Amino acid sequence: MRRNRRESQVSQSIAVSALLLAALFLLPLAVVVPFRSALFDREEPVDETEQEPPLPPFAAGERDAARSLRVLDGETVLEMDLGTYLAGVVRAEMPASFEPEALKAQAVAARTYTLYKLQTGGNHGESADVCTDHTCCQAYLDEESARANWGESADACEAKVEAAVRDTDGEAILYGGVPILAVFHSSSAGLTRAAGEVWVNDLPYLQPVSSPESGDRVPNYYSRMEFTAEELKARLQAAFPEADLSGGMETWLKDPAADGAGSVSTVSVGGVRAKGTQVRAALGLRSACFTWEVQDGEMVFFVTGYGHGVGLSQYGAAAMAAAGADYREILTHYYTGVTVEPFTNFPQV
Ligand SMILES: [Zn+2]
Repeated sequence: MRRNRRESQVSQSIAVSALLLAALFLLPLAVVVPFRSALFDREEPVDETEQEPPLPPFAAGERDAARSLRVLDGETVLEMDLGTYLAGVVRAEMPASFEPEALKAQAVAARTYTLYKLQTGGNHGESADVCTDHTCCQAYLDEESARANWGESADACEAKVEAAVRDTDGEAILYGGVPILAVFHSSSAGLTRAAGEVWVNDLPYLQPVSSPESGDRVPNYYSRMEFTAEELKARLQAAFPEADLSGGMETWLKDPAADGAGSVSTVSVGGVRAKGTQVRAALGLRSACFTWEVQDGEMVFFVTGYGHGVGLSQYGAAAMAAAGADYREILTHYYTGVTVEPFTNFPQV
């Protein structure tokens, strides 16, 4: 008996559970069904003008399309034409909100930099022509990833990027008829820097020129970094093992020499003469245009601009474009003694 009663209790609760389950599935249906026709049967004519047609896949111009490229992306080598690669570089290297002429200047600089790499053998030997690592070659972002970042303005941004590449099809910055090392950076401190101030070799087309960006248009144009004595000592000692950092931290950096652009050309680090660029790298400063002082027991660095300061300034290009300059004027301003023209004699690999 006891067993039977228990069984009937069990079957009762199964029946209740089944009813509850059914209700669980049917209830939402009961809510949705009355609106089904509104949801799925469009009786109203669709207003076609409200629907943006999707952008067709990017098609490079004739010159860029004719040049195929092997792009190392992590472990994979992607095959694509030069134009498709350049669209990826422009997406990654410059905000798409910038003026169209600034984006064109960026596209031509990126194309020129790529051609320079091809001509000089690049950094990847036989395995690839360029890579997607911005610390080695140039940053690269495919359309899907860029669209995810752009969100609602993705169509407009992508259209601007593609136009910048296509409207400058095959154009490069030449010095003496060959593509230049078309380096670029985010923002300058009023003047760009000579290549020789930053790297080993000076180049006639990478010389200081004025740059019109101002602090109110550039995010983080003025930045500061603070270090405790221990942090600063560890960083400087790692970069300059010969430096004598035995005194107080106010004695570690001395006798700065400024270049024409106001950046630190050289400075004494514990008795070792170092380039401003080396100190920038050791401390992770945004540029080599910096000053320092001790405040409340910490060493504070005040930094202007962002990047190495050589060649095209991206925010400077945006400011020039906003003032009416076209991309050729921008490029011939930032790169000294150059011409901008279709480079038809693409170097073959
Ligand atoms: Zn690379």
